[in-house]
Amino acid sequence: MYKVNENYLKIQGNYLFSTIAKKVNEFSAQNPDKEVIRLGIGDVTQPLAPVLIQALQDAVTEMGAAETFHGYAPDLGYEFLRDAIAKNDYQARGCQIDADEIFVSDGAKCDCGNIQEIFSTDNKVAVCDPVYPVYVDTNVMAGRTGKYNEAIQGYDGVIYMPCMAENDFVPEFPKETPDLIYLCYPNNPTGAVITKAQLQEWVDYANKNGAVILYDAAYEAYISEPDVPHSIYECEGARSCAIEFHSFSKNAGFTGVRLGYTVVPKDLKSNGVSLHDLWARRHGTKYNGAPYIVQKAGAAVYTPQGQAQIKEQIAYYMENAKMILEGLKKAGYQVYGGVNAPYIWLKTPGTMTSWEFFDELLQTANVVGTPGSGFGPHGEGYFRLTAFGTHENTKKALERITKM
Ligand code: PLP
Repeated sequence: MYKVNENYLKIQGNYLFSTIAKKVNEFSAQNPDKEVIRLGIGDVTQPLAPVLIQALQDAVTEMGAAETFHGYAPDLGYEFLRDAIAKNDYQARGCQIDADEIFVSDGAKCDCGNIQEIFSTDNKVAVCDPVYPVYVDTNVMAGRTGKYNEAIQGYDGVIYMPCMAENDFVPEFPKETPDLIYLCYPNNPTGAVITKAQLQEWVDYANKNGAVILYDAAYEAYISEPDVPHSIYECEGARSCAIEFHSFSKNAGFTGVRLGYTVVPKDLKSNGVSLHDLWARRHGTKYNGAPYIVQKAGAAVYTPQGQAQIKEQIAYYMENAKMILEGLKKAGYQVYGGVNAPYIWLKTPGTMTSWEFFDELLQTANVVGTPGSGFGPHGEGYFRLTAFGTHENTKKALERITKM
């Protein structure tokens, strides 16, 4: 009799967003006249920028002619895109990253989830608490953790690093030394950022302890303040201890188009073994490349016109963030994030739990957000709202919340 991968059985049954969907569906079935506004899931709502649509259409036309047709893409991605990424996202910022250290993919979720495959199952994993669940769940699937432990509301064997208002949502170094450290800034779900000096401390810590930082920069485009690093490679020594993930989902609205990239510097070595080579091997074996059409649209993001149009879109969402932040502050809520990130992290009133606040918000204001406890035990007592709605819906939701 065949056996399943029993690690999958350790994963907590109810995934956060399916529980939310179930509650919202039940509410809507019972209250068909009520208009529910969703500020829960971090999906964009604005259409693709015109320059990106043009690039997609041009590429589609190319695919229709024998002379310009494209089949399988190169393993690491097309050079035209990797060059544009290296120049614009790194070299223009003074970071030493070359095009051949960039691996183009169909998004950051896959890369964040798959990267653990190139590491031994013995490695100790450290994550922030609260956390984007993909980092933890993929390590559970790989057998890098023990069982789910109700007492700690987490998995045995994982090092959880609390991120709370008290430490500005940036973790302290853990007591136990990890091998793999997941960091995400600007952060989902807290909307917090890390300063360059703080990130430098983490880079120094990783280099000193022989650890790797898996740095998720999916929300980098939302940074508006100086002294907030756009890339971990702005820190000295990061080339020998950090892998970085990027997404085109939130900066260019590619959640349904799918494109991302991962940087694995050639200096990253474990006992002389190059992580770049291992990831190249993994990428080439299990992945056949993001579509040509999509990579052309990705390259259009880096044209002057593309940059102007996506900046406008980011500004649109950040206007929502400002509206939520200021409105909630005025209504007496304690709020965080929303300045360099499209997420607002609010403290639930009084002793209300995250799920109690979710229910109250749904029933009274007909607004959907995400309970902080769904991201980890230190998310309890917090709640996430996203700035990805339309202006109209965001304004309406805010009016309803402040009336509560
Ligand atoms: N990383 C973080 C922190 C995210 O919040 C998300 C999506 O919400 C992703 C990665 C996934 O990005 P992509 O759409 O490129 O897979």
